[in-house]
Amino acid sequence: MRRVQWWEPERLELNQTDDPVAGDGQLVVDVAACGICGSDLHSYTRGFAASPGQVLGHEFSGRVSEANGVDGVAVGDRVTVRPLTPCRECPRCLEGEVQLCEAGHAQNIGYGSPGAFADRVLVPRATLGETVFVLPDGVDDRAGALVEPLAVSLRAVRHAAVGADETVLVLGAGMIGLGAVAMLRLEGAGRIIVSDPSPLRRERAIELGADLAIDPAEQDVATAVREVTGPGAFGLGARADAVIDCAGVPEAFHDGLKSVRHGGRMVLAAMYSRKVELRPDRIVEKELRVVGSMGYRDEFPTVIERLASGAFTADQFITHEFDLARIDEAFRVQLGKSDAVKVIVRPEVA
Ligand SMILES: [Zn+2]
Ligand SMILES: [Zn+2]
Repeated sequence: MRRVQWWEPERLELNQTDDPVAGDGQLVVDVAACGICGSDLHSYTRGFAASPGQVLGHEFSGRVSEANGVDGVAVGDRVTVRPLTPCRECPRCLEGEVQLCEAGHAQNIGYGSPGAFADRVLVPRATLGETVFVLPDGVDDRAGALVEPLAVSLRAVRHAAVGADETVLVLGAGMIGLGAVAMLRLEGAGRIIVSDPSPLRRERAIELGADLAIDPAEQDVATAVREVTGPGAFGLGARADAVIDCAGVPEAFHDGLKSVRHGGRMVLAAMYSRKVELRPDRIVEKELRVVGSMGYRDEFPTVIERLASGAFTADQFITHEFDLARIDEAFRVQLGKSDAVKVIVRPEVA
């Protein structure tokens, strides 16, 4: 089969290797589609969590081609896979917080275990309903590859807990931010404001249910939020009830800090590409609850239901599709943030 190995920053290599073989409790999945994640970009450009030879790719769907003693999963099933492979033994795993497994990510698919930028991928610990999810007819292969990033969005949205009479500011309208907008709409958030410099991404945000999309290059974000919410306490900033940071740049973080009300919430769901210089007194004075949101835990079934419901479609997120042989081009397009949302790679583009 073909696979793509990462060797060093900005060097990927497509080559041939033997097909994986499913041991006991394992599956082999013929990959149908695999998305390029923001974290894959960090791996691609600076080697984040990647050792030379690693096959990246953890947002995938496909058809089971080999199943070895996995209850409820048969050859031919269309599936998506939660790529976390937690140890199930550490204190965090025992609490169910598998996204915080203290054994780390070394066994996760796409990080230690070979990923899905390949014709086939091994699922090292396959359990139906926990790591393997059979896709209903209403969720096609392309949509199946979006379940993983949408689970990230859903977890962040749940941390933000936005009520029907509340306003939320979503910073960054890439895949995770746009997914947050879609999920906030379905969870009944009152008012959704988005900030992103890309016109394409702002347009998608409005289509998915945002009430207002701000261009932070043109407009001061806190001022624009204030026009909607009124000024914050002491006439300063604005009064968004919650902020979800999916941008990961210092400018956006500071926009959030200015725009959130006293007693509000900030959910950090991004990987930060640069250091954020912070005066913690802003958090103290506003008595903010600042919480990180790391990946996902048990969000996959809800995401699959929502995709199957037709409340939003894969095409609202996927902007580009590339054949596996054009992986370099796929990564370059995904890196150019202004005209791409989600780029998916397929062993065979139909
Ligand atoms: Zn991902
Ligand atoms: Zn663990």
